[in-house]
Amino acid sequence: MKHAVIIGGTRGIGHGAAEALSQAGWTVTCTGIGEEEVAEFRTGHPDCRASTLDVRDMEAVQAFFAGLDRLDGLVNCAGVLDRGGEYDIATFENVIDINLNGTMRTCLSAHPLLAGSRGAIVNTASMLSYFGGPLVPAYSASKGGVAQLTKALAGKWAGDGIRVNAIAPGWIETEMTTALRADEERNKPILARTPQGRWGKPSEVGALVAWLLSEQASFVTGSIYPVDGGYSAM
Ligand code: NAD
Repeated sequence: MKHAVIIGGTRGIGHGAAEALSQAGWTVTCTGIGEEEVAEFRTGHPDCRASTLDVRDMEAVQAFFAGLDRLDGLVNCAGVLDRGGEYDIATFENVIDINLNGTMRTCLSAHPLLAGSRGAIVNTASMLSYFGGPLVPAYSASKGGVAQLTKALAGKWAGDGIRVNAIAPGWIETEMTTALRADEERNKPILARTPQGRWGKPSEVGALVAWLLSEQASFVTGSIYPVDGGYSAM
């Protein structure tokens, strides 16, 4: 059975990817930052487990991947933002360290196993890989970086048989967006700008992740896939 690791898979979009991959017959290991989040982690699938991992800690990330027997897919979903707080340099650095450097740490640590299995990576970009976000300069910079990192690694590791792609979600219903959805003044323009007129669900993003890791995507690498209800087309 193929094995996927989903970094930041204990909730939100990563959890949606865990469900989709489990349904497609993968065994799945999810990680999250919080003990409580990991303890509460549930899916309907017995082959889906969770553990804690902080992607800011390179030694811990290396030890985590060194402990695996097999790896066919890596999904990077860990991400944070701080609306209005990212003009503070310590906050800026922390967001970059998790979203961008963390993605590189897991990719580097997973590389030997993925080269052995000729596996694939899916990173998480964003609409803010394309557009500027005045309230979230670190998040925007990190997501622009994730898109470019994805292309660079796709080129570097194609010879090892590893495909590297990214998803670019639009507005998705997760804990990260709870405050936005609750704020009518901010929610309204988001819905007005999204042709489908609604928020996306983690399961709708998870389906794309599962396809990108599958054999059906065997000639797809170095690509960034919007999954956004048409937001980026407008
Ligand atoms: P979420 O807050 O529900 O989940 C975030 C996950 O990241 C959690 O599992 C958390 O444990 C993990 N995490 C946080 N800090 C970490 C750290 N230091 N080390 C390891 N793991 C850590 O958020 P979400 O909306 O599911 O976001 C998942 C990804 O999708 C993020 O990269 C986010 O930027 C991206 N994204 C989300 C949206 C959206 O609308 N929700 C849109 C575009 C992109």
